[in-house]
Amino acid sequence: MICPKCNSEMEKVKFDNIEIDRCTQCKGIWFDMLEHEHLKAIHDSESIDIGDPTVGHDFNKIDKIDCPVCHTKMIRMVDREQPHIWYESCAVCYGVFFDAGEFKDYKEKSVADFFKGLLSRERK
Ligand SMILES: [Zn+2]
Ligand SMILES: [Zn+2]
Repeated sequence: MICPKCNSEMEKVKFDNIEIDRCTQCKGIWFDMLEHEHLKAIHDSESIDIGDPTVGHDFNKIDKIDCPVCHTKMIRMVDREQPHIWYESCAVCYGVFFDAGEFKDYKEKSVADFFKGLLSRERK
C-alpha cells in the first residue's frame, strides 16, 4: 500500500491479530474498517504509533487525500471527544488514516479518565 499523504511505502504491522498499515516515512497509520476502534480497546496498542507527533502535526495539514484502498476522496473527520484530533475517513470502505501520534492521543482519552484530560488540556 502507498501512503496517501507522502506517497511512501507502507508496511504491515500486526498487533494482537489486527493488521494495520504504517507508513515507513511519515509513520501515519491506516486502519481498515473499525480496526482503530478495536485496537483502542486493547492494552498497549498505542505502541504501534511510533511516529513523531511533530511530523504527524505537519502531515495533519494535508487533508485532501485519496483512499489508498479504493481511491475515493477521503473526508476529514473530527473526533467527537477530542476535537483537536483530525483524521481522514473513507465513506466507501470505511478505512481511516491517522497521522503519527494521533492514535496515541486518540487512545489516551479512553484509557485515562477525565482527570488526565483536564491535566493534558494545557499541553497544546
Ligand atoms: Zn506517509
Ligand atoms: Zn476507501
